Amino acid sequence: MSDAAPDSAALPGAVTGAPTSDPPAPTPSTVDAAAACHNCGAALHGRYCAACGQEALPLAPTLRHVVGDVAQELSDFDSRIFRSIQKLFLAPGFLTREYLAGRRVRWVSPLRLYLTFSVAYFALVSLTAGAGVTVRVTQNGAPATSSEERAWLQSRGFQSEQEMEQAIGGSLVAWMPRVMFVLVPLFAWLVSVARRRSGYTYPQHVYFALHAHAAWFGARALVPAARLTSVPSLEDVAGLLTGVYVPIYVVLALRAVYGLTTRRALRDTLLILTIYGIIVVAVTVALMLPFVLWGR
Ligand SMILES: [Zn+2]
Repeated sequence: MSDAAPDSAALPGAVTGAPTSDPPAPTPSTVDAAAACHNCGAALHGRYCAACGQEALPLAPTLRHVVGDVAQELSDFDSRIFRSIQKLFLAPGFLTREYLAGRRVRWVSPLRLYLTFSVAYFALVSLTAGAGVTVRVTQNGAPATSSEERAWLQSRGFQSEQEMEQAIGGSLVAWMPRVMFVLVPLFAWLVSVARRRSGYTYPQHVYFALHAHAAWFGARALVPAARLTSVPSLEDVAGLLTGVYVPIYVVLALRAVYGLTTRRALRDTLLILTIYGIIVVAVTVALMLPFVLWGR
């Protein structure tokens, strides 16, 4: 990277390895055959720098060049995102298979898909008051009288059930995105145990886990979205649909990625989702428990 060609057209004032000298006159051609990368100084062999990946573009592009570039970037970007989202939700396992086969440029990366849909999900949840948490004060299993209820709530620092619901919901929305950075790798580990003879490495199972979670968060976002419309039955329908979608997704994705029969995929899905479900519930309870025990 230090063997910059003597005629490298360094930007005036740009940090390069070569001592600052007068920049040579810009060449009129778009890509000089003997040019060096403007970014890292490596010799160029084609349209992209082999060392850093930057596209070889003239320092003084024409307007036509800029317009063409913008149009191409936007259409590439759009179709890549649209294609990726479509495949993510409608073809479980497809994107993971593409990734494992090394065909990656056409698709949005698994991590980016995961981050996009988890952020969208938690943003929608935080917009809906209480985040779906329901607090009911009971006395030995029976509904508490209003004075008992008020006394208990006040002992925990709350004035009403709604206030406690909002506090717990806010805590879940704040903590779950962080906890997911442990839960997603844990899910990948469960898959790696169930599919230990697949020949895949752990990071390859992580791609599977990221795609699956991206799809679930995206689908699950329909529930808070439905809650925002304040049509009660719509929320139930969304909850039911996503409840069915998640296990079916795992079955189809396991089948596609690991080449399983439907029967085997069903067995593995049952195993993985049961253990994972218990862990997720345990984590959720652990996040809520401090409010019940000690209040805020
Ligand atoms: Zn370069």
